[in-house]
Amino acid sequence: MHCPFCAADDTKVIDSRLVAEGDSVRRRRECQTCGERFTTFETAELVMPRIVKRDGKREPFNEEKLKKGLEKALEKRPVSVEEQEAALNRIMHRLRSTGERELPSGRVGEEVMNELRQIDGVAYVRFASVYRDFQDVSEFQAEIQKLTTEDG
Ligand SMILES: [Zn+2]
Repeated sequence: MHCPFCAADDTKVIDSRLVAEGDSVRRRRECQTCGERFTTFETAELVMPRIVKRDGKREPFNEEKLKKGLEKALEKRPVSVEEQEAALNRIMHRLRSTGERELPSGRVGEEVMNELRQIDGVAYVRFASVYRDFQDVSEFQAEIQKLTTEDG
């Protein structure tokens, strides 16, 4: 694990605990070179179903894309990074726990809506209002981008 401050390789885990529903690990690390401390969230298991898009194309599940989508919906909302990480983990946990090897992309959108409804009403409305006619997180991101641009 590289240090985000000085890019040194030599970092030491000083605390480690399970988060969310037990499928990811929060690690507190200390850089042995510059002494800075930082936190990482590491996924304990990486087997995610493949995503079936509306046109029938399959693609690997993209955690980064999902994370960015959530961040966009929660932009400037009073929701901590920790809460966002926990929401992301819950979504992934539920998708994984279906036991399916493939899931329609719309299922991902539903899980995102479920999470947002519980953690932030405004983010939920933002997402729901643009979600109606598309089923893909990248399209969602594009729509949110438009919204935030129009809002100034
Ligand atoms: Zn360092």
